[in-house]
Amino acid sequence: MEERTESWDITPQLDELRAQGLWRELRPLDEVNGVTVRAEGREWINFSSNDYLGLAQSAEMKDALAEGISRYGGGSGASRLVCGTHRVHAALEEALADFKRTEAALTFSSGFAVALGTIPALVGPTDTIILDKLCHASLVDAARLSGATIRVFPHNHLEKLERLLQTAKGRVLVVTESIFSMDGDAAPLREIAELKARYGAWLLVDEAHGVGVLGPQGRGLAAALGVDQQVDLHLGTLSKAFGLSGGYLAASRQVIDLLINRARSFIYSTAPPVHLAHAMGVILELIRNERGDALRSLLRGGVEQTQSVLSEIGIASPPAPSAILPVILGEASHAMAISARLREAGFLIPCIRYPTVARGSARLRITLCAVHSAPQIHALGSALRETLGTQG
Ligand SMILES: *Cc1c(COP(=O)(O)O)cnc(C)c1O
Repeated sequence: MEERTESWDITPQLDELRAQGLWRELRPLDEVNGVTVRAEGREWINFSSNDYLGLAQSAEMKDALAEGISRYGGGSGASRLVCGTHRVHAALEEALADFKRTEAALTFSSGFAVALGTIPALVGPTDTIILDKLCHASLVDAARLSGATIRVFPHNHLEKLERLLQTAKGRVLVVTESIFSMDGDAAPLREIAELKARYGAWLLVDEAHGVGVLGPQGRGLAAALGVDQQVDLHLGTLSKAFGLSGGYLAASRQVIDLLINRARSFIYSTAPPVHLAHAMGVILELIRNERGDALRSLLRGGVEQTQSVLSEIGIASPPAPSAILPVILGEASHAMAISARLREAGFLIPCIRYPTVARGSARLRITLCAVHSAPQIHALGSALRETLGTQG
């Protein structure tokens, strides 16, 4: 047995983070107005938000929230199973199920909570979860929490996925993202859906970066590829393109019934405020209609402009119609320095480092929103050219 540590000292842990260039800190913004933000007495153009359609600060959002607050007030008072389920929650879930073309849907307080609740409710120690190597932390943590055997395949590697499917024990759940959050590339969902069907596995697709952005009505990448009916578990967040907060799981009625009974992050957490569910219902309707189409088309235009700006300075973009454009730089300290220089120049572009991405693949992560203007993107191009061109 190890000796008990006599006293706590976390200074070495903090020092080590600093020494490795992995130190992170919170930087409060004073004011957010679309993609323009103010802090520390100056203004920046924000290229780091996942508010892809620019809805978070929109008049529609503010009106929907104000209406929701005046009708329903603040917190919901209890968990959904106690007295926290309002008709408005149920209406939102019906609308989400209709949108995702599933029998039912369930909302959670965040996308992270969806994963943590869903995966352990469905699989356990005698089962197997097969994950793409680049899956989001919430999916990895949920898989660990389930106690199932975890198998990982190299990013988007179909042959390796098939080999893992051949030897997997128990019930088998394949987990992937549709658009990968730090790489902006797409999973080969059609092929993955074929494989999972051949081996009788289930498929969970995390559309955090696809829903609202891609596919007919913004239904996501699986719908864009015509394979949404082959996806068993549709996971999504309401915090990114939807511009608000929360997450959902859309699936069969049976799965949703099981989650209501077994998903601990759903059962033991207070229901999201009713005014949020009200606003989300209004925004979902908007995302599905012509206004959503118009925003998606603006976003696509901005992404294409940014891709061409990047390619002019020799940076290839992922071959996917996503709004995430990574610039992979390598060492964390180098990427940090570039990010800091862009900050000086008036652009908020985060440096993504280990442990979010593999060591040695630190990067800038540029994200586009429908409300970025052509001059703003042009200015970003000039700043990148200058910063990267003089990196020595
Ligand atoms: C952001 C994100 C989540 C978590 O969603 P939240 O609503 O922010 O908790 C889950 N999966 C992926 C891939 C994400 O990028």
